[in-house]
Amino acid sequence: MHCPFCRHPDSRVVDSRTSEDGTAIRRRRQCPKCGRRFTTLEATSLAVIKRSGTSEPFSRQKVVSGVRKACQGRPVSEDDLAKMAQRVEEAVRGLGVAEIDADEIGLTILPPLRELDEVAYLRFASVYQGFDSLEDFETAIAGLRADRRMRGEDSDSPGAGG
Ligand SMILES: [Zn+2]
Repeated sequence: MHCPFCRHPDSRVVDSRTSEDGTAIRRRRQCPKCGRRFTTLEATSLAVIKRSGTSEPFSRQKVVSGVRKACQGRPVSEDDLAKMAQRVEEAVRGLGVAEIDADEIGLTILPPLRELDEVAYLRFASVYQGFDSLEDFETAIAGLRADRRMRGEDSDSPGAGG
């Protein structure tokens, strides 16, 4: 970032603020050479680092297509998926980082997907959290059951009261 006054090629960030919609960062900068201050408005690019080491811009569409497979045959609409992808983007941008691992995005998808559909969640989690045994599934299912009990929705246990 060149100083607009003396063209010094370097500058120091003295303050950063994210715009309300989270798509831009307003930075207050100071030139170390002439000492003058100026403001820049920069688009918040969010890069996703893939396992291969290459990066690409974050895309809600990629989130949707990644989850759609896990939702096959489940009562999940395209609208549900779009809303979920929006929540994922908000969560990721909320981290305030410029780049994120694709695996981390997978983990960010889990909580909203879990609210959306538990079966789709288990399918997706089995891939992203690398379930490699029945016990991994059992642990995840036990977690879902415990949450249900906390919400008072556990109606499928026979002989309640035991
Ligand atoms: Zn300067």
